[in-house]
Amino acid sequence: MREDTCSFCGRNRKNVKLLIAGTDGFICDECALRASEIVSEEIDIQNKMKVSELKIKKPDEIKNYLDQYVIGQEEAKKYLSVAVYNHYKRLMQPKSKDEVEIEKSNIILVGETGTGKTLLARTIARLLDVPFTIVDATVLTEAGYVGEDIESILTRLLQVADYNVNAAERGIVFIDEIDKIARKGDNPSITRDVSGEGVQQGLLKLLEGSIVNVPPQGGRKHPEQKMIPVNTANILFICGGAFDGIKNKIAQRLNSRTVGYNSAKEKDAIDFNNLLQYVAPQDLKAFGLIPEIIGRLPILTYLQPLDRDALRRILLEPKNSLIKQYTKLFALDGVELTVDDDVIDFIVDKAIEFKIGARGLRAICETIMMDKMYEMPSTDQKTLEITLDYAKERLSHVSSARLRQG
Ligand code: ADP
Repeated sequence: MREDTCSFCGRNRKNVKLLIAGTDGFICDECALRASEIVSEEIDIQNKMKVSELKIKKPDEIKNYLDQYVIGQEEAKKYLSVAVYNHYKRLMQPKSKDEVEIEKSNIILVGETGTGKTLLARTIARLLDVPFTIVDATVLTEAGYVGEDIESILTRLLQVADYNVNAAERGIVFIDEIDKIARKGDNPSITRDVSGEGVQQGLLKLLEGSIVNVPPQGGRKHPEQKMIPVNTANILFICGGAFDGIKNKIAQRLNSRTVGYNSAKEKDAIDFNNLLQYVAPQDLKAFGLIPEIIGRLPILTYLQPLDRDALRRILLEPKNSLIKQYTKLFALDGVELTVDDDVIDFIVDKAIEFKIGARGLRAICETIMMDKMYEMPSTDQKTLEITLDYAKERLSHVSSARLRQG
């Protein structure tokens, strides 16, 4: 009778620990282990190839996509599109022979709350094939203080990358409310500033590109947790902040520059109603960001405050605009929704009156629609028209404070 042998190495049963039978042959424990190693190496190589095969979307393609979801903000869209495009190109560069190394271009977006900073970041994320995460700078504190360690920013990135370190190392991180870690006041403080300079120093390490030990479960580091080293050299950071009060710093700088020769003419050219468009690195410094951080965020751009026209367009135009969403919600119940044109104007007026901007549009719409969303599924009615009188009546029941919370 033929002796059972491993079909790979030929050893017989006596010479191996384990011999696993297949339909037409056998495999021994050692060959099985070796095969498993080959499989994981091969998959790793294939993953890496996938990254290098990423189709680069051109800046105008990225911007066209953003245009479908974000109203206005032309300059920010352009800057972001170019930065993301360059990020991809940089990732795909073979090791440079000519020694021209393309440096990472982290971005900082300055704009009032509710003007679309996060929306821009989220929309870009949807378009991209790289891991992407949004973190809030306000939860970050220096090591040893209550709150989250800086490194936890990368924990989120690792999580969305399914702990594939290779993929995370090419990801994009959006850090929201970066202005909240600014130094309070222009003078470096003598006492330790828990939420300020220390955190900025920590963040600097990430922005600069270094190997950072990341706690895989996030939160605070503790000795038992095994750290995962992550190289941040290729991670693109996009920071956003409202920088309340920065307009004064910009105005001060513009005013002092325009004293003297030719000043009157120059001053005339300045649009004092929209000062953010002139934001410059020195204004961020005056606001309390340390120069090293500013240096690591070389692309500085701004978002416009949203005017009446922009708010109106936000209600109607984006691919998933609020009105489109309500229309779909009712359509799913077989109800055709129409919202009168003067209702749209009324909603915009209220958002402006209550100073709740784009963010408040949703709360206002919810208030107007709530009862109908409750009633309609139980009626036979097939059409629903929201009139100005109805909208006014609905809104008369709620306070502006309630809408602000929305
Ligand atoms: P920010 O991050 O600047 O504080 P968000 O991006 O969170 O503001 O905006 C809040 C909401 O307002 C968004 O989810 C979106 O519905 C709406 N919105 C704000 N700006 C725009 C815009 N430019 N285009 C379309 N919708 C916008």
